[in-house]
Amino acid sequence: MPILKKSQAIVINKIPYGEIDKIVTFFSLDYGKLKTIAKGAQKSRKRFSGALEPFVHLTIHFSEKSDAFLASVDQTEIINPFYHLREDLIKFAYASYILELVNEMLPEKQAYPKIFDLLLISFKEIDSKDPNEEILRIFETRLLSLAGYEIELKKCIRCSRNAFKTEKLFFAPSLGGLICSNCIKQREKVFSISHGTIKSLLFAQSAPTSALFRLSFSKMAIMESKNILPSFIESIIGKKLKSLDFLLKVIKNERE
Ligand SMILES: [Zn+2]
Repeated sequence: MPILKKSQAIVINKIPYGEIDKIVTFFSLDYGKLKTIAKGAQKSRKRFSGALEPFVHLTIHFSEKSDAFLASVDQTEIINPFYHLREDLIKFAYASYILELVNEMLPEKQAYPKIFDLLLISFKEIDSKDPNEEILRIFETRLLSLAGYEIELKKCIRCSRNAFKTEKLFFAPSLGGLICSNCIKQREKVFSISHGTIKSLLFAQSAPTSALFRLSFSKMAIMESKNILPSFIESIIGKKLKSLDFLLKVIKNERE
């Protein structure tokens, strides 16, 4: 007998499988990342009526059989289609990047309800406003904390000296946190980071989710955090993110 389950979810991606089915990966509230088979999804458009597009927030009903390789998604109800995220190129680039981060950083079948909330509130922000780079940096900082890779921003990782009592500080990607000038080893790869940037990132780590996007970064904080965060994340994931180059091109074009 299959076990029937239900959860809120966000569609990560879909790929055709054989002639008639699709493999759909969801990020679900209750079960985390979930790979499923959507039977008949290629053949009949009516069956899931537009629900299996990336970024869609929906309720899924799925069944698991002990001998089956994948759970089977049987029924879906759309909660928020997030149309703008697919139709506007800039919004698409932003949303694709944060969704790829979630997909690459999290293991399958492990629930992360706080990351689900973070993703949802970020989609709402990108969907409803002109997105800016602060959203990306806030999302990255918070995601790192919630996924178990919180950046050490309060003290030097080697000598524990208080960051706000230390004049010159750096971020060391290999250590995942701050390092003071006394503790840097020869040829160690570090990025300089100012106290203002550290304060912004500390806010992104600890503010209530509902207040997260009220934070505005100084120009310096945008520049420094952009040097630090994407490359630190790539070192954790161990590969380049496909959506990052596209996002950088889109942001560059928008400015010109
Ligand atoms: Zn130190």
